[in-house]
Amino acid sequence: DKLKSALTKTKDVLRTDVRDLFKAGVILDDAKLEEFFRGLVTTDMGVVAAQSIVDELKAKFGGRTVEPDDVWGVVKGKLKEILRGEGDCNWDVTDPLSPLNLAEEGPTVILVCGVNGVGKTTSIAKLANYLQKAGKKVVLAAGDTFRAAAVAQLTMWSERLGCEIVTKPAGTDPAAVAFEGCDRGVESGADVIIIDTAGRLQTHQNLMQELGKIHRVIGKRIPGAPHESLLVLDATTGQNGLSQATKFSEAANCTGIVLAKLDGTAKGGVVVAIREKMGIPVKYVGVGEQIDDMELFSPDDFVDALFS
Ligand code: GDP
Repeated sequence: DKLKSALTKTKDVLRTDVRDLFKAGVILDDAKLEEFFRGLVTTDMGVVAAQSIVDELKAKFGGRTVEPDDVWGVVKGKLKEILRGEGDCNWDVTDPLSPLNLAEEGPTVILVCGVNGVGKTTSIAKLANYLQKAGKKVVLAAGDTFRAAAVAQLTMWSERLGCEIVTKPAGTDPAAVAFEGCDRGVESGADVIIIDTAGRLQTHQNLMQELGKIHRVIGKRIPGAPHESLLVLDATTGQNGLSQATKFSEAANCTGIVLAKLDGTAKGGVVVAIREKMGIPVKYVGVGEQIDDMELFSPDDFVDALFS
């Protein structure tokens, strides 16, 4: 399936760097554990997670002869435990909308943020597609008014998807677009309003102010909104983007991550580092450029696919 093939490159790293370390009857000594640690780190899962896995292996099997199945059982179990977090991702894997916090009454507002080029526009289109397939009426708001190309691209997607979009001239205050998007959504009886936001790199202070204003304006128009605030990250940058992502996440009060471009990277382990460093769940992963190339993130399916 798509997730498995998206993880091909990450699996290749694991296969060459790590898997061969554990042949049947191998003695799990410190040198082997050190090599294993380095292999895990190559997938960008972060040293904390890698160390905790190695520590557990050492405690269970250190200095003893091991069977590969036992080792992989421990590794998979530990990764699943980390990724499950505090149980905030116990959603129904058969329902692609289940990670979303949908409003009980009236339209749900989903704010989407992320740095330019990470795959934000494409992820919004994929999300809108999921929602429409589930019979929801969607309105998009093109809040990235700093980039004409972003507005044009989102407009193109709205035409392909057949959903309404609210746009304003370049340079308009993004909060004004967000407000009008909410207005349109309420008037037209939409189920979900998805608001794009500016993805330019800017100072933390400006970002906080801009996103703070958008939050206030949306909340005024639709009490309780935004119900969901998703941060889109690019898996190909691995852990490099994480400190910046954490700032974004704090500014926007993010409730979940969409990890785009998982298919193009050997750094798929970054999912683990995100979970540990940011403390919010990955809700969706992008596995290609097409409209239906996005999957709900399930810790168990992810770990099983990684070691399949
Ligand atoms: P934005 O600037 O953040 O809005 O990024 P875009 O949505 O325009 O995406 C940037 C590029 O990444 C485009 O060429 C997309 O087709 C591509 N892209 C987005 N998501 C994915 C994904 O999950 N996998 C792959 N392979 N490419 C993606």
